[in-house]
Amino acid sequence: MSEVPQNAAQKTFYLETFGCQMNVHDSEKVVGTLVQEGYRQVETVEQADLVLYNTCSIRDKAEQKVFNRLADYKKYKKQGKTFGVLGCVAQQEGEKIFERAPYVSLVCGSASYRNLPNMLIQIEAGKQRVTGLDDRETDECFETEFTARTNPHRGYITIIEGCDKFCAYCVVPYTRGKERSRTSDSVLAEARQMADLGYTEIQLLGQNVNSYKDPEGKPGARKTFAELLAAVGEIPGIRRVRFTTSHPRDFGRDIVEAIDAVPTLCDHVHLPVQSGSTRVLDAMQRLYTREQYLERIAWMKAAKREISITTDVIVGFPGETEFDFAATLNLLEEVGFDAVFAFKYSPRPNTPSLRMEDAIPDDEKARRLEVLMAKQREIQTIRYKKYIGTRCEVMVEAKNEARAQWVGRTSHNKTLNFTAASKPRLGSYAAVNVTGSFPNSLLGELVV
Ligand code: SF4
Repeated sequence: MSEVPQNAAQKTFYLETFGCQMNVHDSEKVVGTLVQEGYRQVETVEQADLVLYNTCSIRDKAEQKVFNRLADYKKYKKQGKTFGVLGCVAQQEGEKIFERAPYVSLVCGSASYRNLPNMLIQIEAGKQRVTGLDDRETDECFETEFTARTNPHRGYITIIEGCDKFCAYCVVPYTRGKERSRTSDSVLAEARQMADLGYTEIQLLGQNVNSYKDPEGKPGARKTFAELLAAVGEIPGIRRVRFTTSHPRDFGRDIVEAIDAVPTLCDHVHLPVQSGSTRVLDAMQRLYTREQYLERIAWMKAAKREISITTDVIVGFPGETEFDFAATLNLLEEVGFDAVFAFKYSPRPNTPSLRMEDAIPDDEKARRLEVLMAKQREIQTIRYKKYIGTRCEVMVEAKNEARAQWVGRTSHNKTLNFTAASKPRLGSYAAVNVTGSFPNSLLGELVV
């Protein structure tokens, strides 16, 4: 939360964020912008004059949550509170939100956040309904010098927004607009500024972070994604660089070479596969085959450092047969992922897969999800066990008072809970001996 002087007359806002890291980081920029406009952030709806939800529409459940939340708070409208819907649901539903939730005054998509101050002025002047919806032709990246980062040690930098891939199931190209990259100069300037402020870990963000195309500079002088990654990693003071999310089609060998060459680049890659069946990948319009995906895995497995690989999977895509599903299970075994974020297929508005035949019944999707998660649990149990007896460097992230343990994160992006005889400083790096493992975390003792 941003530090601002307390003033009873100051306008206050409450912001709740749903969805991915892009949304979390957008919210940091929204908070910074509002604080700059004289607002103060508060922790409850009750305390706020302005109530904002930064929404996600990637799955039906996430979207429903927002409307449920708005329904809960309907009563506050009478107390003069202003409600606003930001983000992907705002862009997707547009003015229909006013019909569904008439007490909402502000609807604003993510590429229009730079207009937020103007929209708020209109609301303060008494305008009942204000919209800021993105125009796919003129969208820009939302850059602001007022970003209010919530973590003082680890921060996000958006390097590319939007998506041109149009996977058959996905709303993102409709809600976040076309792909647009920031200049490498502006990304590096922000990263240097963060290093000067004491940040040691940077995470580069984008819907397809590795589709990055430097828009400026002489041909030949423009940075590729791998070059930008390496350049961020070489900034003095930066100890860890991560990136998410990568698209397999644009995942080049040069990224693995950069990880090999620059020690500050974390040895973790999140590479969403979605299905292990080329037939389903084709129906999903994912632009790669199972074999091409496995080729990228082979590059990573041949790296000098062991790279931890995580993925996303959708089960129950229309037409997914038992045979296709078995191919996905088999792919999990073949790769040996360190984590899998698996979801049941959720039909979304405006997407081609909405009209596809052979929908999989929900209970069958649930069954497949359960089978897949059980399989992955077995894989992770084995994979995490092999860390026992090793020493890992962690960034100290928090203290779990109830368990009297510290919470650290390894370069592999694993949670390592550890005990310590002396108190480590939050945000510092510490060596920990791993003494135990679970399917999703490691256990250890601080090296004195
Ligand atoms: S690559 Fe596909 S899944 Fe990812 S954001 Fe773009 S359309 Fe959505």
